[in-house]
Parts: sequence; C-alpha cells; structure tokens
Amino acid sequence: MLKIENLHAEIDGKEILKGLDLEIRPGEIHAIMGPNGAGKSTLGYVLGGRDGYEVTQGSVEFEGRNLLDMEPHERAAAGVFLGFQYPVEIPGISNVQFLREALNAQRKARGEEPLSGGEFLKRARAQADALGMEQDMLKRPVNVGFSGGEKKRNEMVQMGIIDPKFAILDETDSGLDIDALKTVGEGINRIMRKPDKAVLLITHYQRLLEYVEPDAVHVLAAGRIVRSGGPELAVELEREGYQAVAA
Ligand code: ADP
Ligand code: MG
Ligand code: MG
Repeated sequence: MLKIENLHAEIDGKEILKGLDLEIRPGEIHAIMGPNGAGKSTLGYVLGGRDGYEVTQGSVEFEGRNLLDMEPHERAAAGVFLGFQYPVEIPGISNVQFLREALNAQRKARGEEPLSGGEFLKRARAQADALGMEQDMLKRPVNVGFSGGEKKRNEMVQMGIIDPKFAILDETDSGLDIDALKTVGEGINRIMRKPDKAVLLITHYQRLLEYVEPDAVHVLAAGRIVRSGGPELAVELEREGYQAVAA
C-alpha cells in the first residue's frame, strides 16, 4: 500500500529525513517510535503534503501512485488521512460543517455524489456515539475550547466519518487519560483494522500499543529507521530507553 524508499526531506534548508525506507502492506498497522526531534512528525507532514517540507531524494508510492506528485487534497481523496499532533482550532465553523465539507470534497474528487445533510448527520452521530463523544460537541466550533482528550476523540470521529484507506496518526495518545486512551485505541481498531486498510501510528509510549497491537514497530532516530521488530520491540524500548536500543 505504501512504499517509501531512501526518503530525504528538509525544512528551511535543514535536512531532517536522511534516507528513510518503509513498506506497509494492506491490513497492517505499523508503529513509529523514537526520541524527540527524530523526524517523526516531519515524516507525517511529508506524507500528508504539508507546505514547507521539501523532498530532495527518494520516492513514496501509495497504491502504486507517486504520492509526492499529488496535492494534499488529492492525497486525501485517494484515501490518505493525516491526524495532527496539535489539532487546529477553527472558530466560527462547527464540527459538522467542517466534516461535511471535507467529506463531500473528497467524494466529489472521487466522482461520488455528496451526502445529504440528513445522511451525513446520521453518520456523524453514529461515530460520536461509538467514541463516547457528546452529541453537542458536533455543533461546537472545531476544537475550540476542547480539552486534549476531547480533541483526540474528535480526531477519531473525523477519521470514522472520512473512513480513509490509510491513516497517519501522530501522537494520538498524547495527553490522554487511561479511559480516553482505551477509547481512542478501540476507535483505531474499529475504523482501521481491516484487510484493505493500513495505519502508521506515531507514538512516544508503548501504552497505546497495548490496545492497538502493531504488526511492526520501527525506531526512527536522526532521520532514519534504525531498528524494526514486532510488538516486543516497543516493550523493550519502554524498558531500556531509546539510547540503549537505537545505538
Ligand atoms: P519529532 O516529531 O520526532 O519529535 P519533528 O519531525 O517534529 O520531530 O522535528 C525534527 C527536527 O526538525 C527537529 O530537530 C526540529 O527542531 C526540526 N524542525 C522542525 N520544524 C523546523 C523548522 N521550521 N525549521 C527548522 N527545523 C525544524
Ligand atoms: Mg516531537
Ligand atoms: Mg512529533
């Protein structure tokens, strides 16, 4: 589904990714762990197509297409979903408005009919219910005044409504209490644990991986994958620290 080869990327002339290789097949969940400043978020942004990140070498294929040639909205329409480490607040636009626009823009790009207001609301309510989110939050301005945990739940509601093929989740577990962590983990499994979908889960901690069992764990350090393994690698990292494991 996703094939990254020798990826080099820089921001403001500073090279952050320095020859990264990664292959993810349909049905797989891969976790990326690593110290602060390793380039984890940079990888997410490069895959999402964020402005300011320049790829200087290497390639990224998504379902056989050159992902790097596609605009961010084309990537989204192709089924790529990028969850943010720091979710943006959008005053004046309600959650439902925002999500309906986003979903219908993607449906249009795929040549599908837009969802009616009623159909959309049904879908949004079902996702909010599944994630234990108050229905009221659907009407509130996007992320404004949401707590850390509410933002992350909201991100999962967004993901459930968009129903992407491939999700990149950057520190979806940061700032979550134990109950929210479990809810978010179950959300990821429910929405994305399917034979034709895949997830790249960027996380600092092993805790989330107790709920979302990864097929592979990679350590990203100084812009490259320095070690790969199974779920046991995350446990080892937690116990020994990055320095011992990545050295
Ligand atoms: P991680 O998510 O692994 O903690 P990031 O991808 O956020 O790491 O950052 C990787 C490196 O890129 C860090 O050293 C960070 O300081 C640097 N970086 C991020 N944004 C910029 C920028 N706008 N200009 C220069 N360096 C940046
Ligand atoms: Mg960081
Ligand atoms: Mg980061």
